[in-house]
Amino acid sequence: MQRARIHITGIVQGVGFRPFVYNLAVRLKLTGWVKNTSAGVDIEVDGEKNILDDFIQSLRDEAPPLSHIDTLSASFLTENGFGAFEIIHSESVEGAFQPISPDVAICDDCLRELFDPLDRRFHYPFINCTNCGPRFTIIKDIPYDRPKTTMSGFELCPDCAGEYQNPLDRRFHAQPLACAVCGPKVTFERLNMGALADSEDAISATRRALSNGEIVAIKGLGGFHLACDATNTAAVKELRQRKLRVDKPFALMMPNVEVVKQHCFVSADERELLLSAARPVVLLKRKPESNIVEDVSPELDWLGVMLPYTPLHYLLFFDALHSSSALLAPLVLTSGNLSEEPIAVDNDDAHEKLAKLADAFLMHDRDIHIRCDDSVVRVFDDPDGYKTPDRKLIYPIRRSRGYSPFPVKMTKGTPQLLAVGSELKNTFCITNGDYAFLSHHIGDMENYETLRSFEQGVEHFEKLFRVKPVAIAHDLHPNYLATRYAIERAERQDLPLIAVQHHHAHIAACMAEQGLDEPVIGVAFDGTGYGEDGAIWGGEFMIADYKNYQRAAHLEYFPLSGGDAAIRKPARAALALLWSLDLAWDEDLAPVKEFSAQELTVLRNQLQKKINTPQTSSMGRLFDAVSALAGGRQTVNYEGQAAVEFEALADSSQESYPFSIESNCIQVKEVLAAIIQDVRMEIPRSRISARFHNGLAETVLNVVKKISRESNLQSVVLSGGVWQNVTLLRKTLILLRKNGFRVYIHREVPTNDGGLSLGQAAIAAARLRG
Ligand SMILES: [Zn+2]
Ligand SMILES: [Zn+2]
Ligand SMILES: [Zn+2]
Repeated sequence: MQRARIHITGIVQGVGFRPFVYNLAVRLKLTGWVKNTSAGVDIEVDGEKNILDDFIQSLRDEAPPLSHIDTLSASFLTENGFGAFEIIHSESVEGAFQPISPDVAICDDCLRELFDPLDRRFHYPFINCTNCGPRFTIIKDIPYDRPKTTMSGFELCPDCAGEYQNPLDRRFHAQPLACAVCGPKVTFERLNMGALADSEDAISATRRALSNGEIVAIKGLGGFHLACDATNTAAVKELRQRKLRVDKPFALMMPNVEVVKQHCFVSADERELLLSAARPVVLLKRKPESNIVEDVSPELDWLGVMLPYTPLHYLLFFDALHSSSALLAPLVLTSGNLSEEPIAVDNDDAHEKLAKLADAFLMHDRDIHIRCDDSVVRVFDDPDGYKTPDRKLIYPIRRSRGYSPFPVKMTKGTPQLLAVGSELKNTFCITNGDYAFLSHHIGDMENYETLRSFEQGVEHFEKLFRVKPVAIAHDLHPNYLATRYAIERAERQDLPLIAVQHHHAHIAACMAEQGLDEPVIGVAFDGTGYGEDGAIWGGEFMIADYKNYQRAAHLEYFPLSGGDAAIRKPARAALALLWSLDLAWDEDLAPVKEFSAQELTVLRNQLQKKINTPQTSSMGRLFDAVSALAGGRQTVNYEGQAAVEFEALADSSQESYPFSIESNCIQVKEVLAAIIQDVRMEIPRSRISARFHNGLAETVLNVVKKISRESNLQSVVLSGGVWQNVTLLRKTLILLRKNGFRVYIHREVPTNDGGLSLGQAAIAAARLRG
């Protein structure tokens, strides 16, 4: 007889791990204890050596579905003489930390109970168990126990307490455990009218309001949504108008996969992703026969769809009998905020901020401790039948609810760092030991409210993961709010600052998540990023490792007349590009028609005198300009809109435009001349788009080949916002692989600026290691 002392780290709390250990120990007739600590899970057991070995093997093999073991260490001592096996009280270990679980969609067992009239939680909107429910958004501190969550104010009723204490119950130690007697409640409210507090009444009132075309603010897991009937044109238009959100696509929620298939094409992989515990918004190709209002996703060939993920969502969609006859129509479910402010989370805030946006509220009294927007992903299956070892098909666009704060494992231990990200679609990243914790989606850091939300997020993460940064990494751009935060804080706390070039950070982010530790050829195609020379970069080829990079080639510079004005008006970018290439502003060209003769004179003057015309090598702006020239959108309502629509047009044509490369610059004069000629010959825009995409993919191959010849490097990393264009991504991947290159793309964090802070952290760690 011996005693085994076991220590486990990873995601092992809030995922039913202790009950699993308990049951396993009882099954093997072992005695001892298991407990949570802030560093992981500790176990001590008495038993015969061979049974102890079985026990340890089973800990790994049979761990609960939501857990994720990073390390398991065991040592053997003399027998203790334990009388039984028990779960003992959690303890805090000074300075210790461990990952915590993201929020998890309702599991099948809970869903069954939710619609079982004989179950005591029949129709209870907050049903959950050790395998499902809120986690990240309700945790105030670790170790993860009920008193340290927003459930602390709800005292368990005797029935719930019985389940909580019974190791054989599937709600044993489920921290958010609740029922209609003791748990949170929903209410339905209208302005100046009394609230409906009965759960059934509140939910049917919400269903009625939605069916009548009203807009309802619904409190969810990570914040409020604004919901309306997605098949009702007037309702969708009204929501757009109230939210001041022009053209940006709205996310949808549909009751089940069968309904999704009525509106979208759904592959087996997409189905799997829709149904996964993270329940992200999945971008799916729209079917022509779908009756979802055009205005939900204007000019795009896809819809962003998610399935219900809380019991409350299920109760909304399905009637009392869980029958399909009374299904609610698909809903628009967009974040509850005004334009670009952070999503509302607490009830008072929602009352104040959403009063003008919503006709009614579906509220509840379980507090959200940290806001967390819905995640957005798409399936990108590697072309050519190439499969990554674990066949990861996710191509993340926004990594937030359901994924954050799941850490990215770093190949080398890192010091405690904070990386603040850049500006658009921002996230921050903190590191500790082997982990990089990328934050939930913070949003575009262009206003005070978002900055506040960022600061609160940083504070929360530092507390949860016990981090006191020894340095702060930031973008080179001096005026980003995140950069200013970094500089002020570094001064206040006397910390070193590490400035990181934007596109180097993109490449390093992909290297870090892929665990690469060798120099690579990085292709960073992007909208905007501050360059070392003060120009706006974004069409970059670099030789990079974590510490340094060398700019090996780039898109030739052109002036961006009016700076940010050119981002809002692709016609401007087109004219500036033509001007810089000595191509005439002929009257028949679409971008020229956008301006009066007088405006054209002003514009020309501005370009000649270089007034407010920063130089750029931005691939995003080239896409804007080309799209405008081909007759596409001349003014955009959100960054990248022209490029996204231009991609959606591309047909299957194999021809390509002739890019050329001169002294490490990609030249586009011939391409533009050819496009103008095609437009005049009335070649369809779909063909022009395909030719442009094909030509650009071939150019990437040619430049990469040249750099590879000179550097002997064979690994290529593709990162930056432009690679959200999967048409370009697919074509480029096929060409590079055919030519023997190892190509890496993002699978864990977004290729856009939402993944950037991970790269900043990886670079800062490497520089500190020296
Ligand atoms: Zn469950
Ligand atoms: Zn209860
Ligand atoms: Zn970027």
